[in-house]
Amino acid sequence: MEMTRLPWMTDELAQFRHSAHRYLTEQIAPRVPGWIEAKQVDRRTWLDLGAMGMLLPELPDELGGSGTSLAFQTALVEEMAATGVLPHFGISVHAIGAHYLMAYGSEEQQRRWLPAMASGELIAAIAMSEPGAGSDLQGLKTHARRDGEHYVINGSKTFITNGSIADLVCLVVKTDTTAGAKGTSLLMVDTRALAGFKVGRVLDKIGMMGSDTAELFFDDVRVPVGNLLGGVEGRGFYQLMEQLPFERTILAVMAVASIERAVALTTEYVKERTAFGKALIEMQNTRFKLAECATIARVARVFVNDCVQRLCDGTLDSTTASMAKWWCTQMQCDVIDECLQHFGGYGYMREYPIAQMYADARVQKIYGGTNEIMKELIARSL
Ligand SMILES: Cc1cc2nc3c(=O)[nH]c(=O)nc-3n(C[C@H](O)[C@H](O)[C@H](O)COP(=O)(O)OP(=O)(O)OC[C@H]3O[C@@H](n4cnc5c(N)ncnc54)[C@H](O)[C@@H]3O)c2cc1C
Repeated sequence: MEMTRLPWMTDELAQFRHSAHRYLTEQIAPRVPGWIEAKQVDRRTWLDLGAMGMLLPELPDELGGSGTSLAFQTALVEEMAATGVLPHFGISVHAIGAHYLMAYGSEEQQRRWLPAMASGELIAAIAMSEPGAGSDLQGLKTHARRDGEHYVINGSKTFITNGSIADLVCLVVKTDTTAGAKGTSLLMVDTRALAGFKVGRVLDKIGMMGSDTAELFFDDVRVPVGNLLGGVEGRGFYQLMEQLPFERTILAVMAVASIERAVALTTEYVKERTAFGKALIEMQNTRFKLAECATIARVARVFVNDCVQRLCDGTLDSTTASMAKWWCTQMQCDVIDECLQHFGGYGYMREYPIAQMYADARVQKIYGGTNEIMKELIARSL
Protein backbone atom coordinates (compact mmCIF):
# COMPACT_ATOMS: atom_id res chain seq x y z
CA MET A 1 0.00 0.00 0.00
CA GLU A 2 1.25 3.45 -0.90
CA MET A 3 1.36 5.85 2.05
CA THR A 4 -0.69 9.01 1.79
CA ARG A 5 1.64 11.58 0.31
CA LEU A 6 2.01 14.43 2.79
CA PRO A 7 3.38 17.86 1.84
CA TRP A 8 6.80 17.12 3.41
CA MET A 9 7.34 14.17 1.05
CA THR A 10 8.78 16.13 -1.85
CA ASP A 11 10.63 14.70 -4.87
CA GLU A 12 13.74 16.51 -3.66
CA LEU A 13 13.48 14.71 -0.32
CA ALA A 14 13.03 11.34 -2.07
CA GLN A 15 16.21 11.99 -4.05
CA PHE A 16 18.13 13.03 -0.93
CA ARG A 17 16.90 9.93 0.88
CA HIS A 18 17.92 7.69 -2.01
CA SER A 19 21.47 9.03 -2.21
CA ALA A 20 21.80 9.07 1.60
CA HIS A 21 20.74 5.42 1.70
CA ARG A 22 23.32 4.44 -0.90
CA TYR A 23 26.13 6.41 0.74
CA LEU A 24 25.33 5.05 4.20
CA THR A 25 25.14 1.47 2.93
CA GLU A 26 28.31 1.59 0.87
CA GLN A 27 30.55 3.98 2.76
CA ILE A 28 29.41 4.24 6.37
CA ALA A 29 27.80 0.95 7.49
CA PRO A 30 31.06 -1.00 6.87
CA ARG A 31 32.71 1.22 9.52
CA VAL A 32 30.32 0.12 12.30
CA PRO A 33 32.45 -2.86 13.50
CA GLY A 34 35.42 -0.47 13.87
CA TRP A 35 33.32 1.91 15.98
CA ILE A 36 32.15 -0.96 18.16
CA GLU A 37 35.74 -2.00 18.76
CA ALA A 38 36.83 1.57 19.54
CA LYS A 39 33.61 2.32 21.52
CA GLN A 40 33.33 5.54 19.54
CA VAL A 41 32.77 6.93 16.07
CA ASP A 42 35.88 8.19 14.29
CA ARG A 43 36.18 11.85 13.36
CA ARG A 44 36.64 11.08 9.70
CA THR A 45 33.05 9.82 9.55
CA TRP A 46 31.73 13.09 10.98
CA LEU A 47 33.73 15.03 8.41
CA ASP A 48 32.66 12.74 5.57
CA LEU A 49 28.98 13.06 6.46
CA GLY A 50 29.42 16.82 6.83
CA ALA A 51 31.02 17.03 3.39
CA MET A 52 28.04 15.12 1.96
CA GLY A 53 25.61 17.62 3.53
CA MET A 54 24.29 14.82 5.73
CA LEU A 55 24.57 16.29 9.23
CA LEU A 56 22.38 19.38 9.43
CA PRO A 57 20.73 19.97 6.03
CA GLU A 58 17.93 21.95 7.67
CA LEU A 59 20.24 24.82 8.65
CA PRO A 60 20.15 27.90 6.42
CA ASP A 61 22.78 28.08 3.65
CA GLU A 62 24.68 30.85 5.39
CA LEU A 63 25.09 28.65 8.48
CA GLY A 64 26.41 25.65 6.60
CA GLY A 65 23.17 23.83 5.80
CA SER A 66 21.05 23.58 2.67
CA GLY A 67 17.96 25.39 3.96
CA THR A 68 15.78 22.28 3.73
CA SER A 69 12.70 21.40 5.76
CA LEU A 70 13.05 19.51 9.03
CA ALA A 71 11.90 16.41 7.17
CA PHE A 72 15.42 16.10 5.71
CA GLN A 73 16.79 15.62 9.23
CA THR A 74 14.14 13.02 10.08
CA ALA A 75 14.81 11.27 6.75
CA LEU A 76 18.51 11.12 7.58
CA VAL A 77 17.75 9.61 10.97
CA GLU A 78 15.51 7.05 9.27
CA GLU A 79 18.07 6.07 6.68
CA MET A 80 20.71 5.72 9.38
CA ALA A 81 18.35 3.43 11.30
CA ALA A 82 17.52 1.43 8.16
CA THR A 83 21.21 0.84 7.42
CA GLY A 84 22.16 -0.07 11.02
CA VAL A 85 24.33 3.04 11.50
CA LEU A 86 22.09 4.98 13.83
CA PRO A 87 22.44 3.17 17.16
CA HIS A 88 26.14 4.01 17.15
CA PHE A 89 26.17 7.45 15.57
CA GLY A 90 25.03 10.30 17.81
CA ILE A 91 23.33 12.34 15.09
CA SER A 92 20.23 13.02 17.16
CA VAL A 93 21.99 14.80 20.04
CA HIS A 94 24.15 16.67 17.53
CA ALA A 95 21.01 17.85 15.73
CA ILE A 96 19.19 18.68 18.96
CA GLY A 97 22.19 20.76 20.07
CA ALA A 98 22.06 22.63 16.77
CA HIS A 99 18.37 23.27 17.23
CA TYR A 100 18.95 24.82 20.66
CA LEU A 101 21.41 27.16 18.99
CA MET A 102 19.00 27.95 16.17
CA ALA A 103 16.18 28.66 18.61
CA TYR A 104 17.99 30.56 21.36
CA GLY A 105 21.50 31.39 20.14
CA SER A 106 22.48 34.94 19.26
CA GLU A 107 23.58 35.60 15.69
CA GLU A 108 27.17 35.62 16.89
CA GLN A 109 26.77 32.25 18.66
CA GLN A 110 25.12 30.73 15.61
CA ARG A 111 27.91 31.89 13.32
CA ARG A 112 30.56 30.73 15.78
CA TRP A 113 29.36 27.15 16.07
CA LEU A 114 26.72 26.06 13.54
CA PRO A 115 28.79 26.01 10.31
CA ALA A 116 31.43 23.86 12.03
CA MET A 117 28.69 21.56 13.34
CA ALA A 118 27.26 21.20 9.84
CA SER A 119 30.68 20.32 8.41
CA GLY A 120 31.41 17.80 11.18
CA GLU A 121 34.41 19.74 12.51
CA LEU A 122 32.54 20.31 15.77
CA ILE A 123 30.73 17.41 17.41
CA ALA A 124 28.00 18.31 19.88
CA ALA A 125 26.60 16.69 23.02
CA ILE A 126 23.75 17.57 25.34
CA ALA A 127 24.46 17.16 29.02
CA MET A 128 21.46 17.14 31.30
CA SER A 129 21.59 13.89 33.29
CA GLU A 130 23.58 13.63 36.48
CA PRO A 131 24.31 10.71 38.77
CA GLY A 132 21.53 11.86 41.11
CA ALA A 133 19.12 13.44 38.62
CA GLY A 134 17.72 12.01 35.38
CA SER A 135 13.94 12.16 35.14
CA ASP A 136 13.81 14.77 37.87
CA LEU A 137 15.83 17.59 36.35
CA GLN A 138 14.89 19.85 39.25
CA GLY A 139 17.39 17.87 41.26
CA LEU A 140 20.37 18.95 39.15
CA LYS A 141 23.46 19.88 41.14
CA THR A 142 25.87 21.16 38.47
CA HIS A 143 26.25 24.81 39.23
CA ALA A 144 27.50 27.84 37.30
CA ARG A 145 28.47 30.84 39.44
CA ARG A 146 28.99 34.19 37.78
CA ASP A 147 32.45 35.66 38.30
CA GLY A 148 32.96 38.85 36.27
CA GLU A 149 32.79 37.97 32.58
CA HIS A 150 32.86 34.23 33.23
CA TYR A 151 30.77 31.45 34.72
CA VAL A 152 32.62 29.07 37.01
CA ILE A 153 31.17 25.59 36.65
CA ASN A 154 31.36 22.75 39.16
CA GLY A 155 29.62 19.40 38.98
CA SER A 156 29.33 16.26 36.94
CA LYS A 157 27.15 14.68 34.26
CA THR A 158 26.62 11.07 33.31
CA PHE A 159 25.25 8.99 30.41
CA ILE A 160 26.25 11.67 27.91
CA THR A 161 26.02 10.56 24.27
CA ASN A 162 29.05 11.75 22.25
CA GLY A 163 30.47 12.65 25.67
CA SER A 164 34.07 11.70 25.04
CA ILE A 165 34.28 13.05 21.48
CA ALA A 166 32.22 16.23 21.79
CA ASP A 167 33.89 19.59 21.27
CA LEU A 168 30.77 21.51 22.17
CA VAL A 169 28.52 20.58 25.07
CA CYS A 170 25.13 22.13 25.64
CA LEU A 171 25.28 21.99 29.41
CA VAL A 172 22.28 22.24 31.70
CA VAL A 173 23.31 24.05 34.86
CA LYS A 174 21.83 25.75 37.87
CA THR A 175 22.61 29.43 37.83
CA ASP A 176 20.46 29.91 40.92
CA THR A 177 20.25 26.99 43.32
CA THR A 178 17.34 28.53 45.22
CA ALA A 179 14.98 29.15 42.33
CA GLY A 180 13.91 25.60 41.29
CA ALA A 181 13.15 25.29 37.57
CA LYS A 182 13.63 29.05 37.20
CA GLY A 183 17.24 28.69 38.32
CA THR A 184 18.17 26.48 35.34
CA SER A 185 20.19 27.75 32.37
CA LEU A 186 21.82 26.35 29.23
CA LEU A 187 25.50 27.08 28.70
CA MET A 188 27.44 26.20 25.56
CA VAL A 189 30.79 24.79 26.64
CA ASP A 190 33.64 24.47 24.15
CA THR A 191 35.55 21.60 25.70
CA ARG A 192 38.71 21.88 23.60
CA ALA A 193 41.72 22.45 25.86
CA LEU A 194 39.40 23.57 28.64
CA ALA A 195 41.04 23.72 32.06
CA GLY A 196 39.14 21.81 34.76
CA PHE A 197 37.09 19.77 32.29
CA LYS A 198 37.57 16.01 32.32
CA VAL A 199 35.94 13.11 30.52
CA GLY A 200 35.44 10.22 32.94
CA ARG A 201 34.61 6.63 32.00
CA VAL A 202 33.17 5.71 28.63
CA LEU A 203 30.37 3.56 29.99
CA ASP A 204 29.95 -0.13 29.18
CA LYS A 205 26.47 -0.59 27.71
CA ILE A 206 24.45 -3.63 26.65
CA GLY A 207 23.78 -2.13 23.21
CA MET A 208 24.66 0.86 21.01
CA MET A 209 28.23 -0.32 21.41
CA GLY A 210 29.86 2.09 18.96
CA SER A 211 28.31 5.15 20.58
CA ASP A 212 30.35 6.70 23.37
CA THR A 213 28.25 7.34 26.45
CA ALA A 214 30.44 9.08 28.97
CA GLU A 215 30.78 10.79 32.31
CA LEU A 216 31.83 14.46 32.32
CA PHE A 217 33.42 16.33 35.21
CA PHE A 218 33.63 20.08 35.75
CA ASP A 219 36.05 21.42 38.34
CA ASP A 220 36.14 25.23 38.44
CA VAL A 221 35.67 25.33 34.65
CA ARG A 222 35.55 28.92 33.38
CA VAL A 223 33.24 29.70 30.47
CA PRO A 224 32.63 33.22 29.06
CA VAL A 225 29.23 34.67 29.97
CA GLY A 226 28.69 35.12 26.24
CA ASN A 227 28.14 31.35 26.03
CA LEU A 228 24.82 31.52 27.88
CA LEU A 229 21.95 30.55 25.57
CA GLY A 230 19.16 33.07 25.29
CA GLY A 231 21.06 35.91 26.91
CA VAL A 232 19.16 35.76 30.22
CA GLU A 233 19.72 33.33 33.10
CA GLY A 234 16.95 31.05 34.33
CA ARG A 235 15.35 30.18 31.01
CA GLY A 236 16.90 26.72 30.64
CA PHE A 237 13.94 24.65 31.76
CA TYR A 238 11.58 26.48 29.45
CA GLN A 239 14.05 26.17 26.56
CA LEU A 240 14.37 22.41 27.14
CA MET A 241 10.59 21.98 27.23
CA GLU A 242 10.09 23.96 24.05
CA GLN A 243 12.41 21.74 22.03
CA LEU A 244 10.88 18.48 23.25
CA PRO A 245 8.54 17.90 20.27
CA PHE A 246 11.58 17.78 17.95
CA GLU A 247 13.56 15.42 20.20
CA ARG A 248 10.65 13.09 20.78
CA THR A 249 9.74 12.93 17.11
CA ILE A 250 13.35 12.00 16.27
CA LEU A 251 13.14 9.11 18.76
CA ALA A 252 9.80 7.98 17.31
CA VAL A 253 11.26 8.16 13.79
CA MET A 254 14.18 6.01 14.94
CA ALA A 255 11.71 3.53 16.41
CA VAL A 256 9.50 3.19 13.36
CA ALA A 257 12.48 2.77 11.03
CA SER A 258 13.81 0.00 13.29
CA ILE A 259 10.40 -1.70 13.39
CA GLU A 260 10.28 -1.71 9.59
CA ARG A 261 13.82 -3.06 9.34
CA ALA A 262 13.05 -5.83 11.84
CA VAL A 263 9.94 -6.90 9.93
CA ALA A 264 11.83 -6.88 6.60
CA LEU A 265 14.77 -8.89 7.96
CA THR A 266 12.47 -11.42 9.62
CA THR A 267 10.23 -11.84 6.59
CA GLU A 268 13.29 -12.59 4.48
CA TYR A 269 14.59 -15.10 7.04
CA VAL A 270 11.37 -17.06 7.54
CA LYS A 271 11.02 -17.50 3.79
CA GLU A 272 14.43 -19.16 3.63
CA ARG A 273 14.60 -21.15 6.85
CA THR A 274 12.90 -24.51 6.84
CA ALA A 275 11.69 -26.82 9.63
CA PHE A 276 9.57 -29.95 9.44
CA GLY A 277 9.95 -29.92 5.67
CA LYS A 278 8.59 -26.47 4.98
CA ALA A 279 9.59 -22.81 5.16
CA LEU A 280 8.84 -21.12 8.50
CA ILE A 281 6.60 -18.63 6.69
CA GLU A 282 4.21 -21.48 5.94
CA MET A 283 3.50 -22.08 9.65
CA GLN A 284 0.41 -20.32 10.87
CA ASN A 285 2.04 -18.90 14.01
CA THR A 286 4.83 -17.32 11.94
CA ARG A 287 2.32 -15.85 9.52
CA PHE A 288 0.05 -14.45 12.22
CA LYS A 289 2.86 -13.00 14.32
CA LEU A 290 4.45 -11.32 11.32
CA ALA A 291 1.04 -10.03 10.22
CA GLU A 292 0.69 -8.42 13.66
CA CYS A 293 4.17 -6.88 13.45
CA ALA A 294 3.54 -5.56 9.92
CA THR A 295 0.29 -3.98 11.13
CA ILE A 296 2.07 -2.26 14.01
CA ALA A 297 4.71 -1.01 11.55
CA ARG A 298 1.98 0.48 9.35
CA VAL A 299 0.12 2.18 12.22
CA ALA A 300 3.37 3.57 13.65
CA ARG A 301 4.44 4.83 10.23
CA VAL A 302 1.20 6.72 9.64
CA PHE A 303 1.36 8.28 13.12
CA VAL A 304 5.02 9.31 12.77
CA ASN A 305 4.53 10.67 9.26
CA ASP A 306 1.79 12.89 10.66
CA CYS A 307 4.08 14.02 13.50
CA VAL A 308 6.79 14.95 10.96
CA GLN A 309 4.25 16.99 9.01
CA ARG A 310 3.21 18.83 12.16
CA LEU A 311 6.83 19.33 13.11
CA CYS A 312 7.52 20.93 9.72
CA ASP A 313 4.41 23.09 10.10
CA GLY A 314 5.40 24.11 13.65
CA THR A 315 2.14 22.71 15.04
CA LEU A 316 3.32 19.57 16.83
CA ASP A 317 2.29 19.78 20.47
CA SER A 318 4.28 18.29 23.29
CA THR A 319 1.54 15.80 24.27
CA THR A 320 1.33 14.25 20.80
CA ALA A 321 5.13 14.08 20.60
CA SER A 322 5.19 12.31 23.99
CA MET A 323 2.60 9.83 22.70
CA ALA A 324 4.73 9.16 19.63
CA LYS A 325 7.87 8.69 21.74
CA TRP A 326 6.46 6.20 24.26
CA TRP A 327 4.25 4.22 21.94
CA CYS A 328 6.67 3.85 19.03
CA THR A 329 9.60 2.91 21.28
CA GLN A 330 7.43 0.41 23.19
CA MET A 331 6.36 -1.09 19.85
CA GLN A 332 9.99 -1.13 18.71
CA CYS A 333 10.94 -3.31 21.69
CA ASP A 334 7.86 -5.55 21.36
CA VAL A 335 8.21 -6.08 17.61
CA ILE A 336 11.96 -6.72 17.70
CA ASP A 337 11.48 -9.20 20.53
CA GLU A 338 8.83 -11.02 18.49
CA CYS A 339 10.96 -10.92 15.33
CA LEU A 340 14.02 -12.26 17.14
CA GLN A 341 11.98 -15.30 18.21
CA HIS A 342 11.55 -16.32 14.58
CA PHE A 343 15.32 -16.54 14.17
CA GLY A 344 15.54 -19.18 16.89
CA GLY A 345 19.06 -19.52 18.30
CA TYR A 346 20.53 -17.44 15.49
CA GLY A 347 18.52 -14.51 16.81
CA TYR A 348 20.64 -14.55 19.94
CA MET A 349 23.93 -14.29 18.03
CA ARG A 350 25.40 -10.81 17.68
CA GLU A 351 26.47 -11.56 14.11
CA TYR A 352 22.77 -11.40 13.20
CA PRO A 353 21.48 -7.82 12.91
CA ILE A 354 18.26 -8.72 14.74
CA ALA A 355 20.28 -9.57 17.87
CA GLN A 356 22.02 -6.20 17.79
CA MET A 357 18.72 -4.45 17.15
CA TYR A 358 17.27 -6.18 20.24
CA ALA A 359 20.07 -4.87 22.45
CA ASP A 360 20.06 -1.41 20.84
CA ALA A 361 16.30 -0.96 21.16
CA ARG A 362 16.02 -1.28 24.92
CA VAL A 363 17.35 2.15 25.79
CA GLN A 364 14.80 3.87 23.57
CA LYS A 365 12.25 3.46 26.37
CA ILE A 366 14.67 5.06 28.84
CA TYR A 367 16.40 8.09 27.34
CA GLY A 368 14.85 11.24 25.90
CA GLY A 369 12.51 11.21 28.92
CA THR A 370 11.51 7.72 30.14
CA ASN A 371 8.27 6.26 28.83
CA GLU A 372 6.78 6.56 32.32
CA ILE A 373 7.50 10.29 32.27
CA MET A 374 5.89 10.50 28.78
CA LYS A 375 2.71 8.93 30.17
CA GLU A 376 2.79 11.29 33.14
CA LEU A 377 2.95 14.26 30.75
CA ILE A 378 0.16 12.89 28.56
CA ALA A 379 -2.01 12.22 31.61
CA ARG A 380 -1.60 15.84 32.73
CA SER A 381 -3.20 16.97 29.47
CA LEU A 382 -6.31 14.82 29.91
C1 LIG B 1 22.61 5.05 26.27
C2 LIG B 1 22.14 6.29 26.98
C3 LIG B 1 22.35 7.52 26.39
C4 LIG B 1 21.96 8.69 27.05
N1 LIG B 1 22.26 9.91 26.50
C5 LIG B 1 22.04 11.03 27.23
C6 LIG B 1 22.50 12.30 26.76
O1 LIG B 1 23.08 12.42 25.67
N2 LIG B 1 22.31 13.39 27.54
C7 LIG B 1 21.68 13.30 28.76
O2 LIG B 1 21.54 14.33 29.42
N3 LIG B 1 21.22 12.12 29.23
C8 LIG B 1 21.39 10.98 28.50
N4 LIG B 1 20.96 9.77 28.98
C9 LIG B 1 20.31 9.71 30.28
C10 LIG B 1 18.81 9.45 30.20
O3 LIG B 1 18.16 10.54 29.65
C11 LIG B 1 18.33 9.09 31.62
O4 LIG B 1 18.87 7.82 31.93
C12 LIG B 1 16.82 9.09 31.74
O5 LIG B 1 16.31 10.39 31.64
C13 LIG B 1 16.35 8.47 33.06
O6 LIG B 1 16.99 9.05 34.15
P1 LIG B 1 17.67 8.11 35.26
O7 LIG B 1 18.57 7.15 34.55
O8 LIG B 1 18.26 8.98 36.28
O9 LIG B 1 16.48 7.27 35.83
P2 LIG B 1 15.46 7.72 37.07
O10 LIG B 1 15.01 9.12 36.83
O11 LIG B 1 16.17 7.39 38.33
O12 LIG B 1 14.28 6.73 36.82
C14 LIG B 1 14.27 5.37 37.25
C15 LIG B 1 12.89 4.78 36.99
O13 LIG B 1 11.92 5.50 37.75
C16 LIG B 1 10.89 5.96 36.88
N5 LIG B 1 10.37 7.26 37.31
C17 LIG B 1 11.06 8.35 37.68
N6 LIG B 1 10.24 9.36 37.97
C18 LIG B 1 8.99 8.90 37.78
C19 LIG B 1 7.68 9.46 37.90
N7 LIG B 1 7.51 10.75 38.27
N8 LIG B 1 6.62 8.70 37.64
C20 LIG B 1 6.77 7.40 37.25
N9 LIG B 1 7.97 6.81 37.11
C21 LIG B 1 9.06 7.54 37.37
C22 LIG B 1 11.56 6.10 35.52
O14 LIG B 1 10.60 6.09 34.48
C23 LIG B 1 12.46 4.88 35.52
O15 LIG B 1 11.75 3.77 35.13
C24 LIG B 1 21.30 8.59 28.30
C25 LIG B 1 21.06 7.34 28.87
C26 LIG B 1 21.48 6.20 28.24
C27 LIG B 1 21.24 4.87 28.91
